[in-house]
Amino acid sequence: VVGIDLGGTRLRLGLVDANGTVHREMTVPSSTGLPRAANLDYLCRLIEGLLADPELAGANLRGIGVGATGPLDPATGRIDNPHTLPEWTGLDLGAALRERFAVPVRFENDAAVAALGEYWLGGEANDCMMMITIGTGVGGALIVDGENYNGAAGFHPEMGHLLIDPSGPLCYCGASGCLESLIAGPALARAWNEVLSARDDQATVGGSEGLFAAARVGDQDATRLVNDAGRHLGLGLITLTALLAPGLIVVGGGIGREFDLLIPMIRTTLASVAHYHPIDRLSIRPVTLGESAGILGAAYLAWAAD
Ligand SMILES: [Zn+2]
Repeated sequence: VVGIDLGGTRLRLGLVDANGTVHREMTVPSSTGLPRAANLDYLCRLIEGLLADPELAGANLRGIGVGATGPLDPATGRIDNPHTLPEWTGLDLGAALRERFAVPVRFENDAAVAALGEYWLGGEANDCMMMITIGTGVGGALIVDGENYNGAAGFHPEMGHLLIDPSGPLCYCGASGCLESLIAGPALARAWNEVLSARDDQATVGGSEGLFAAARVGDQDATRLVNDAGRHLGLGLITLTALLAPGLIVVGGGIGREFDLLIPMIRTTLASVAHYHPIDRLSIRPVTLGESAGILGAAYLAWAAD
């Protein structure tokens, strides 16, 4: 199958077998500079380029899976994201790919395919698992019985805007103190930069990377902010586990890479309330797949299309 990961900056494609081995892959910028309608043909040519491997003579293409930065209609593959993916917005990707390759084509948003990749090949997995991705924003996905869960009319749940602290910072979603406004990279960077400026510290590196680096060497202010982030995420997980009772939570994204620093306070916070299902059976682990998660998750979608 072909797994396609259409992100805000990069378009990645991989040819993936039923064991999850990537046989060939390519990465190109997702901004093509082409007129919008020409992008369909461009994508088809990239796929044909992948398939034109002499070593694959005789192999049959079984399907195509696509993960893209949403909003995305999983039924049609129509992307509606004029800000991040202007050249792909409004195109009927599903119909075009089905017509050209005569195979099943499935779509999900990028958070969902990353979660499916982790479910398939990330190591510890669970048939009811949740993934939280913390980077520039906070996103997530829920997998139930090996399938991504979408809500009414195919809408993807947005757990990044779960309300945590109504006295917190205002988010573009209109709420104050949602998870994203508290623990996404820009929120942590802002809080840390304010600390550095309040203590007139020009020697210490700012930004969210500077924050975690400082926490690693025992800076007390940085440790407090990192603990706050872990506590806020833990509060979000209290609500999510009460609602969904998952067996596994996988944490990813740029901030998720600091998992070892966040996890003690996440666990402390989770343990601070009573749970009505066996919380001791809830595993929390970091992602393991890295950059190929999108291609692999999209490939899983295609393999699971039967
Ligand atoms: Zn929000």
